[in-house]
Amino acid sequence: MMSKFSAYNFKGQKALVRVDFNVPLNDQCEITDDSRMKATIPTINKILNDGGSVILMSHLGRPKEGPSDEYSLKHLVHHLSELLNQSAVGSQQSAVGSQQSAVGSQQSAVGSQQSAVGNQQPVTVLFANDCIGEQAYLTAKMMRPGEVLLLENLRFHKEEEKGDPGFAEKLSKLGDVWVNDAFGTAHRAHASTAVIARFFPVEKRMFGLLMEKEVANAEKVLHNAEKPFVAIIGGAKVSDKILIIENLLNTATDIIIGGGMAYTFIKAEGGDIGSSLCEDDRVGIALEIMRKAEAKGVCIHLPSDSIIADKFAADAMTSDAPSNNIPDDWMGLDIGPNACEQFCNVIKRSKTILWNGPMGVFEMHNFQHGTKAVATAIAAATQKGSFSLVGGGDSVSAVNQFGFADKVSYISTGGGAMLEYFEGKKLPGISAVEGDNR
Ligand code: AMP
Repeated sequence: MMSKFSAYNFKGQKALVRVDFNVPLNDQCEITDDSRMKATIPTINKILNDGGSVILMSHLGRPKEGPSDEYSLKHLVHHLSELLNQSAVGSQQSAVGSQQSAVGSQQSAVGSQQSAVGNQQPVTVLFANDCIGEQAYLTAKMMRPGEVLLLENLRFHKEEEKGDPGFAEKLSKLGDVWVNDAFGTAHRAHASTAVIARFFPVEKRMFGLLMEKEVANAEKVLHNAEKPFVAIIGGAKVSDKILIIENLLNTATDIIIGGGMAYTFIKAEGGDIGSSLCEDDRVGIALEIMRKAEAKGVCIHLPSDSIIADKFAADAMTSDAPSNNIPDDWMGLDIGPNACEQFCNVIKRSKTILWNGPMGVFEMHNFQHGTKAVATAIAAATQKGSFSLVGGGDSVSAVNQFGFADKVSYISTGGGAMLEYFEGKKLPGISAVEGDNR
């Protein structure tokens, strides 16, 4: 069945699209990873190709005190224009980099450029230096089909994060239809991600293509996982992952726990973990989780051995030790070779794989083997037909860093949002689109 977004004809419509353009910028304000922008291009192109225009709104970083150059979305205008152009299917008339001033508008549309989209029409990318106010409103009003307007950082107004209805209403005036394509912020009840929904009738609010894909893939794993289903949970902090593990006890066949958080579990079993990462106040809950897993028939796998180090540093002395017998003053910074084999065997026999969090300090060369081994096993299982979903900032970086991005079934763009989804929570950005909350 065609989705609401795909079935909608945007001809002559101004679509107000909430995207997650919260991309990392370096000291020169250059984009260092554009995956989040790339992920929304199909949504933008569908609207433009229908004959609509697109008003994009996003946050960038965590600006403290109102507007600042550092967090300005103007740094993204040029690249957005290039991406729209590159996505042109067989377009002969690429106009990358050609600068044009705002067409027919005296309202300053800063950084406006031209590029070409899939419909081979050149598209103007305009920029409004405030997301609300007269300039944004007039620019939006004068936009023609095929044009894109990027609004300045929503978080320059504190009302955004407060979910202020007055602010949401002002934003809503910019478009005829509200499209939520920002899975990365779907767990926030902010003005542009949720509250704004009440100013659009239900037929004029919908998910974009990215959001549809994110929700469909997450749903598939959470509610329709083909068994055996293994969840691989790693990273530093148990406290961040308790709820997801508890919820996964209801559906997973196996849960692999790696990374720094594994040592709290190993300590709960009575192991000696040396100076490995440990959250002492979570030892009790770790024990409880292991008891619950046993009662439910879910197999929890902890790393049998670890790569240990005499300090938390890339040039530390290293050795291998059983994870429950780590000498004092040494710490486990990666899973060991036996644990790699143990984990990889479980992964290879699983039909559904969910991965969140690295197996070790993968940023340092000496401690990335475990994370790489897990990524390799996931890629092998995927090639044999298993479904694999990777999410959460660090596991996504690892998959990219090790060159496995196209060897897994799906990489989620939402870190916190994905975690909360798998904790079983209803995400405000999803409920707002689906529910009739007028
Ligand atoms: P999280 O944000 O909780 O997913 O944690 C990711 C971070 O955990 C990464 O920066 C890893 O370097 C770190 N990490 C993974 N394993 C360990 C470990 N054994 N000891 C300390 N930090 C770790």
